[in-house]
Amino acid sequence: YTAKGTHSGQRVYAPDCQLGSRASLGLRADLREALDEGQIELRYQPKVDMRSGRISGVEALVRWRHPTGGLRPPDLFLPEMERAGLMELLTRRVLDLALTDCVRWRAAGATLAVSVNVPASVIVDPGFVDLVRGELELHGLPPSALVVEVTEDGLITVLEKAQRTLAGLRDHGVRVSLDDYGTGLCSLAYLLELPADEVKLDQRFLRDIDRDPSAAEIVRSTVSLAHALSLRIVAEGVETSRSWASLAAWQCDEAQGYFVSRPMTGERVLSWLKEWDDRLRRLPQVGESTM
Ligand code: C2E
Ligand code: MG
Ligand code: MG
Ligand code: MG
Repeated sequence: YTAKGTHSGQRVYAPDCQLGSRASLGLRADLREALDEGQIELRYQPKVDMRSGRISGVEALVRWRHPTGGLRPPDLFLPEMERAGLMELLTRRVLDLALTDCVRWRAAGATLAVSVNVPASVIVDPGFVDLVRGELELHGLPPSALVVEVTEDGLITVLEKAQRTLAGLRDHGVRVSLDDYGTGLCSLAYLLELPADEVKLDQRFLRDIDRDPSAAEIVRSTVSLAHALSLRIVAEGVETSRSWASLAAWQCDEAQGYFVSRPMTGERVLSWLKEWDDRLRRLPQVGESTM
C-alpha cells in the first residue's frame, strides 16, 4: 500500500494496483445512476403452451440503456450489480416495470402472466414475499399474473431460506419456476426439495437435439421426469422448427426461444400476439408424430 496525500490533508491508503477496483467503482456509480435515472428497461420473450399454441405469458429480461454505450444485455452488468449489493433495488424496479406493462396488456384484453427473474440473494430475504404481495396489490393484479423464476445455482447454500420464501410465494398464489434446470449440481435433489410449479430446461440441452440422439434422449426423459414430479416443463432456447416438433412429440408443456420470438419491447407485445395467431395454424401441436 502507498500512502497518498489529498488536498484536504487527509491521507488515504490505497492498493498500488488499483486500476481494477477503480474501474469497478466507476461502474458501480454508473449502475446506481442507472437505477435512479430510469435507464433500466425490459424486453419480453413469449412462452407458448405447446398443446393449445396459446401464449401463456412472457418473461421479463432486463436491459441497461447506457447513456453513451447503447443497450446492454444483463450478462454485462448483473454480476457487478450483485457485487455492489444492488440486486434488491433492481428486482423492485423490474417488478414495477413488468407489472405496469402487464396491467396494460390486460387492459387491452391479453390475460398474460409475466415471469420475473429473481436472484438467490433476494430470494433469501424473508421480506420478499411481502414485497411481492405489496407490488401486486399496488398494480391491482391477481397473484396468478406473476411467475417468479429462480436459478437452482445460487440456492445451494441457502436451501432452507429459499424453501420458506418459495413456499410463501406459492401460498399466496404466485407461481415459482426453477430456471436453467440442469446446469447446477445435484439438480434432481433440488427439484424434490424446492417448492415449484415448473422447471425450465436450460437451453444448452436443446442445442444438439436435432442431430444427437443421446441429447434428444436426455431432453425426452427430463420431460417425463418433470411430469412424474407433477411439474410443468418449459424448454428454453427453442431455435428451430425441428426442435419444436420434437418437443411437441415428447409432450413438453411449454416452449420459449428465438423460433417463437426474440425478446421484444412491451409496446410490441400486443401486435406480436396477433401475428402469432396466424403463424400458429402452421405449427405441429403436442403429440403429433414427427417421424
Ligand atoms: P434466463 O432467465 O435463462 O433467460 C434466457 C436467456 O436466453 C435470455 O438472455 C434470452 O434472451 C436468451 N434466449 C432466449 N431464447 C433464446 C434462443 O432461442 N437462443 C439463444 N441462444 N438464446 C435465447 P438475456 O436476456 O441476455 O438474459 C440472460 C440472463 O440474465 C437470464 O437468463 C437471467 O438469468 C438473467 N436476467 C435477465 N433479466 C434479469 C432480471 O431482471 N433480473 C435478474 N436477476 N436476472 C435477469
Ligand atoms: Mg429466466
Ligand atoms: Mg434460463
Ligand atoms: Mg440463463
